[in-house]
Amino acid sequence: MTTAAGTPVAVVTGASSGIGAATARELAAAGYEVVLTARREDRIRALADELTSAGHRARAHVLDVTDRAAVDALAASLDRCDVLVNNAGGALGAETVATGDPADWQRMYEVNVIGTLHVTQALLPALTASGAGTVVVISSTAGLDTYEGGAGYAAAKHGAHVLAKTLRLEIVGTPVRVIEIAPGMVRTEEFATTRFRGDTEKAAKVYAGVAEPLTARDVAETVAWAVTRPAHVNVDLLVLRPRAQASNTKVHREL
Ligand code: NDP
Repeated sequence: MTTAAGTPVAVVTGASSGIGAATARELAAAGYEVVLTARREDRIRALADELTSAGHRARAHVLDVTDRAAVDALAASLDRCDVLVNNAGGALGAETVATGDPADWQRMYEVNVIGTLHVTQALLPALTASGAGTVVVISSTAGLDTYEGGAGYAAAKHGAHVLAKTLRLEIVGTPVRVIEIAPGMVRTEEFATTRFRGDTEKAAKVYAGVAEPLTARDVAETVAWAVTRPAHVNVDLLVLRPRAQASNTKVHREL
């Protein structure tokens, strides 16, 4: 199977901050035309402008991954799609199972799982037509194991993990590979602040005393590395943690 000629196109969801923005930068540098999607238009436009000014190809497309009609409109607007990075997502709350808000659980499932489902379903025909398509799912180590206070997020990320694993089984034999990247602790600007609803003190505690949590760039470089392997090489599942984190619950803190 050969790849279509011309500049390959990579769609990145949640490209307005953190891992998504860093991934868009890495893929643009690797020669992809990047389609930056997120709900915050000002941020993705600014990043698209920055990348185009640097000589790369980039454009912004406002998208809420939970809005299927909007996702279908994105798919219809693309001439081609070679790579899809399902990155939009995150955590809401850190309450126990006994006290968690079901609305938070619902929202996390909606964005992390159904959002990934919508975008993957909508772009799969174009990814297949490319002759060498790649679906990336940014899950989490919370998609492989759990921790106290993490059940809602872990349940959603386990859902994303199962989606990736099942899709890989179902489309084997087609020219599309499914790559799951499962990061552990990554210090991004917004992840923990969103989780704790703007409480920056609580958010800071997540990383307290940890010498070097992963950065968005660490994850983005890993995504770019996996995506730029030859088309027959499938980085099936890659777990990425900072050296100071041995498991979801075993973190070395110098306090
Ligand atoms: P951020 O909070 O910085 O980024 C989340 C991104 O998702 C934003 O760009 C946001 O954009 C977008 N997003 C959220 N909801 C929607 C929606 N409904 N539709 C479209 N886009 C949406 O977090 P990170 O960069 O840290 O995380 C990125 C991904 O990596 C997430 O899936 C997260 O769960 C996962 N992850 C993060 C880890 C960490 O420790 N930080 C560890 C492991 C995994 P906007 O608000 O503009 O729509």
